[in-house]
Amino acid sequence: MDSAEKGRRVVVVGAGFGGLFAARRLARSGLQVVLIDRRNFHTFTPLLYQVAAAELEPEEIAYPVRTIFRGQKNLRMVLGEVRRVDLSARQLEVGDVSIGYEDLILALGSTTNFFGVDGASDHSWPLKTPGDAVRLRSHILECFERAQLRSESSARAPLITFVIVGGGPTGVEFAGALSELIRGPLARDFPSLDLSESKVILVEVRNSLLGSFPQHLGMYGARRLRQMGVEVRFDAKVTAVRPHSVAFASGEAIESATAVWTAGVRGDPALERWGLPTTRDGRVPVDDTLQVPGYPHVYVIGDSAYVEQAGRVLPMLAPVAIQQGEAAAENIIRAASAKPARAFRYRDKGTMATIGRNAAVAVLAGHAFRGFPAWIIWLAIHIASLIGFRNRLLVLTNWAWDYLFFERGVRLIDPGP
Ligand SMILES: Cc1cc2nc3c(=O)[nH]c(=O)nc-3n(C[C@H](O)[C@H](O)[C@H](O)COP(=O)(O)OP(=O)(O)OC[C@H]3O[C@@H](n4cnc5c(N)ncnc54)[C@H](O)[C@@H]3O)c2cc1C
Repeated sequence: MDSAEKGRRVVVVGAGFGGLFAARRLARSGLQVVLIDRRNFHTFTPLLYQVAAAELEPEEIAYPVRTIFRGQKNLRMVLGEVRRVDLSARQLEVGDVSIGYEDLILALGSTTNFFGVDGASDHSWPLKTPGDAVRLRSHILECFERAQLRSESSARAPLITFVIVGGGPTGVEFAGALSELIRGPLARDFPSLDLSESKVILVEVRNSLLGSFPQHLGMYGARRLRQMGVEVRFDAKVTAVRPHSVAFASGEAIESATAVWTAGVRGDPALERWGLPTTRDGRVPVDDTLQVPGYPHVYVIGDSAYVEQAGRVLPMLAPVAIQQGEAAAENIIRAASAKPARAFRYRDKGTMATIGRNAAVAVLAGHAFRGFPAWIIWLAIHIASLIGFRNRLLVLTNWAWDYLFFERGVRLIDPGP
């Protein structure tokens, strides 16, 4: 690469898993990189549910982007929301600033998909960002505070009944963690409350949990959750969410002040607004080189991208985003040296989900694990994947405290602004 090519400016939008790994690879190559995010930190989403379940603080699973790239002179971080992209002029707008690019990587992630269910976007609680997790944690704790002031069981029970919609990994993990929070620390904090009135209900439209895992692991997950006091309901299609109830296609309604929505995600609507082609679920179909057809200077990766491989759509998972980030960066580096782009191939190293204390499921290198061995693997991989030694230490300390003393350190109700 000569110095003119090194001056080539690559803009990466999004410092999540895809954007971060793309920017890292590009920065090492010597190209000029501009990394834009509306937040100044990277979030380790796999542990977000533990923030909502009062197990971890949000800053323990987040890391400042500027610190990650400290000393990297050819990378500039810009804090702000990209509001417009002009694909023909190769320019984008962040606030009132216009930034031009030779190559663009869009790694915007995804947004919650409410599937048009009546009232779901207004009355259910999403779990996508640290802000969502802290708000949900405060709401759950407030529900217990309000419940203990009610003398009538009919007024108390809906406040401490929690419906979790969606039996994928996030729903399963949160249901387990919430049940442990209620039966452990909250039972001790609220001795005057009859916690047999408190329910955690996990509802799934299909007839199994953890649909992306082998069926026997989904069955194990349901069995373990039930042993932990979670009510698991299958074939339960939510038709409406109201402030104090959740309605089902069967005609039944559950009285509850809290519906947590973990039923699905979709591509960010901004992608369509910016004139990119999108699928029905808002993702951008890209070539096998991760370029947008007709716009060879634009790469879309991670949750924002729609990629089929061996007849199946790649899932919205962190390892997919990471590998695509590195592959898109590699193709841009190759283009700067006039080399042809390479096709992206996802290497599936496995998936895992935790259910609760001593219980998890994992598929690694084609082998299925469950129970304690899977839980230990889950702990080790998540600790190793966190960014920053301080975060690893804090998370490990919190987990050890929780494991040994059945106690959660974080039970703050955020008073808000
Ligand atoms: C609760 C939860 C649990 C999960 N658990 C797991 C798990 O256990 N294992 C797993 O593999 N995956 C898990 N995932 C999925 C995983 O987080 C995503 O697949 C992954 O983050 C996708 O990476 P990404 O780079 O595409 O997007 P993200 O990591 O979401 O990053 C997108 C970034 O873009 C920024 N952004 C978006 N729009 C703009 C804009 N207009 N301007 C500026 N910045 C913008 C956002 O602020 C964000 O930082 C989980 C997700 C959630 C929500």
